Amino acid sequence: MSKKLLIDLLKLRNLEDLKIEGIFRDEKSTAAFKTIRELATFQFTCRKCEIAPCVNACPAEALEKGEDGIVKRAVNLCIRCKSCIVICPFGTLMDNLFEVKTSDYRFFDLNDDSELKKFADAFPADMVSLVDMEEKREENIYKLNDKILIKEKTWS
Ligand code: SF4
Ligand code: SF4
Repeated sequence: MSKKLLIDLLKLRNLEDLKIEGIFRDEKSTAAFKTIRELATFQFTCRKCEIAPCVNACPAEALEKGEDGIVKRAVNLCIRCKSCIVICPFGTLMDNLFEVKTSDYRFFDLNDDSELKKFADAFPADMVSLVDMEEKREENIYKLNDKILIKEKTWS
């Protein structure tokens, strides 16, 4: 069994001045520019409001709620105005979630197992670690994909 990254989103969320991002690079897709933080936040932290204030507040029609209730951001449409961040009544979206990533950011392509390890090494071990385990919902650990587990207190 190959190792997975376990990311404690509760702790990561509170890290100030975070300049490290994990992505799944795919030259053919703009989704490559979505960070693991963004994917995990919309999937696990977001309360999936029935009438989503974030979607309605977006002046660029960049947010859409899928049939699964998960909000997705069209990277090519988003103008990074932060309206969605401000209006979310639950403070779901981190302030710097969609900001332009400047050259002082470090990106790790998590398709690559060596980068997976480097990404883990860039954080304190209680925040991001490599583990041999599967999803454990009873411990608030959820599968984001085959390589990433997210620890988060979900609303439902
Ligand atoms: S307003 Fe906040 S909690 Fe509601 S759908 Fe949007 S991001 Fe999720
Ligand atoms: S930051 Fe992007 S997704 Fe959010 S409201 Fe502004 S344009 Fe829409």
